[in-house]
Amino acid sequence: MDPINEENIKMYFYKNRLKTFEGWPFDEDCACTPQNMAKAGFIHTPSDNSPDIAMCFFCLKELEGWEPEDDPEKEHKSHSPSCHFIALKKKVEDLNVEEFFKLQKERHKFIINKSCNDGITKFEEAAKKRRADIIKSAMGEE
Ligand SMILES: [Zn+2]
Repeated sequence: MDPINEENIKMYFYKNRLKTFEGWPFDEDCACTPQNMAKAGFIHTPSDNSPDIAMCFFCLKELEGWEPEDDPEKEHKSHSPSCHFIALKKKVEDLNVEEFFKLQKERHKFIINKSCNDGITKFEEAAKKRRADIIKSAMGEE
């Protein structure tokens, strides 16, 4: 699943987000259950080293290092106060077409922002490496 895919609107729906939480480390007697995570807009995006990475499908904010007592909705609001999804007063199912498209427009801003930042990071890493190579070869020639 690629949450960045613009055609991917299925994560607007709770059930689809909930399905991603297979293998989520917090299941019982805690605040950040898969149900509460999915309700707060998160999808589970684990990596090999971090089984507890979750990302908001809307603002793409990634959070890890969850503690059992963490409230997903509160965490989402405090780490990503500009997210329109967590601020939504209605259920997605109850939005009219205009409201939905406005929301999608805002989501696209987050997506574009993230892809630009990823591009900048990649460029900076490549530039750093190139610079180190140049210095290395310059030193070698002395
Ligand atoms: Zn969000």
